[in-house]
Amino acid sequence: MNTYTETREIPIFGYYDVIVVGGGPAGVGSALSASRGGKKTLLIEQYGFLGGMWTAGLVNPLFDYENKGGIVQEIVNRINDLGMNSSSGQMYTFDIETMKLLLDRMMIQSSVDLLFHTYFADTIVDNKVAKGVLVENKSGRQAYMGKIIIDCTGDGDVAARAGASYKIGRDHDGAVQPMTLMFKMSNMDYVQNYNNFPALNGNELYFLMKQAVEREGLPDYQFNFTRPCMLRLPGSHTGVCQMTHVRGRNPLDAWDLSKAEIEGRELVYDAVTYFKKYLPQFKDAQLDQTGAHIGIRESRRITGEYEITLKDMLEGARFSDGICICKFGVDIHQPDGNGQEEIIRYPIKPYHISYRSLVPKYIDHLLVAGRCISGCFEAHASYRVTGDCVAMGQAAGTAAALCLDTNRSPRELDGKLVVEQMRKDGALQ
Ligand SMILES: Cc1cc2nc3c(=O)[nH]c(=O)nc-3n(C[C@H](O)[C@H](O)[C@H](O)COP(=O)(O)OP(=O)(O)OC[C@H]3O[C@@H](n4cnc5c(N)ncnc54)[C@H](O)[C@@H]3O)c2cc1C
Repeated sequence: MNTYTETREIPIFGYYDVIVVGGGPAGVGSALSASRGGKKTLLIEQYGFLGGMWTAGLVNPLFDYENKGGIVQEIVNRINDLGMNSSSGQMYTFDIETMKLLLDRMMIQSSVDLLFHTYFADTIVDNKVAKGVLVENKSGRQAYMGKIIIDCTGDGDVAARAGASYKIGRDHDGAVQPMTLMFKMSNMDYVQNYNNFPALNGNELYFLMKQAVEREGLPDYQFNFTRPCMLRLPGSHTGVCQMTHVRGRNPLDAWDLSKAEIEGRELVYDAVTYFKKYLPQFKDAQLDQTGAHIGIRESRRITGEYEITLKDMLEGARFSDGICICKFGVDIHQPDGNGQEEIIRYPIKPYHISYRSLVPKYIDHLLVAGRCISGCFEAHASYRVTGDCVAMGQAAGTAAALCLDTNRSPRELDGKLVVEQMRKDGALQ
């Protein structure tokens, strides 16, 4: 490949104690806890709103938050106070626009500096120590210097650019779980009744589709995924649907991502057309929106000081630096099939996420939180859900503040101190 050499001086727009890149569930937890810990905190986000997959990806419900306390419980309480929660069976769902507004308010109330419409471009590293970030936005290229940088990009972009090592996908072939473009519909006479979930093996919508196939004499139509679901959102006759899986695309390649978005939209069009034509419950339904970003289930897993293993999960590992307990099952949407591996295939016990899984090897003054932390393929398929990501973020922000208070690097910090501080702040471990 031909190359072009770039040499230019970049203006430094700000000096911070803590810089958080990515405003999804992990970034929200990180920025709030760092700022509440008394540190001058900047949160950088490519969109004009926070929430990551919750908002840009239209992902609902909020899984695995019930045993966390802390910031994720605060978010749930505040959504409830605004009356903007609902449920699909036992699953907790929330209104997406309310989530955006609430997260803004929480940041402002906690004095986090929010920089929207800004794309992370590179990590400033000096002698294996992260010192800041380069970003691009309407104002041009800018540098922000930070004493601790927290990578909450989901994809581990900041750590990867800093030179941290990482793994991707299954051990034997590197294949990742499919992406999915979520979509929201309204005016339906249907939302999935998750109380039927066990009887229909979680496949109520698929069951209706099968019925339509038989009734209308149609060819079998699997929509690319055999366990579609339509989850109830607050507001009548409104829900988000998860079924349009895109496989075989690399989430870290912009050309592949572009193709995945286009493919996803076609799949959504097919699905909505099918619903309206063949399922009476959808006769008058309408497509409200697709996600601003196709949902990426899986990409980099940054190699940390500790890697969560399948054995840890099967044994229900507990650590003195366990920052939260994850109880969500191993949920693998097959990279090369139309199904979802049964959660019961891996009879896991609730397990601790160790603080050390948030500390990348080799690069100092850097933490990761969210789905890009250090774990094996199967572990990632469990801890990637949003309740756990917020808790990891809270741990990373708490750790950053403690590091600065005690003049230690994240690697030197004893994770037990993070656990203690999180407990004082209402988290459960
Ligand atoms: C289709 C799908 C369905 C899912 N269903 C559920 C579910 O039902 N319940 C559940 O709890 N979890 C679910 N998950 C998992 C969950 O949504 C994610 O694993 C979780 O959101 C990860 O949180 P995060 O904060 O690490 O990353 P994200 O939510 O991806 O947030 C990352 C943030 O960083 C920003 N960002 C990324 N790169 C840059 C950059 N270079 N510059 C600036 N900003 C950047 C993004 O815009 C985003 O706001 C689902 C995931 C997918 C893909």
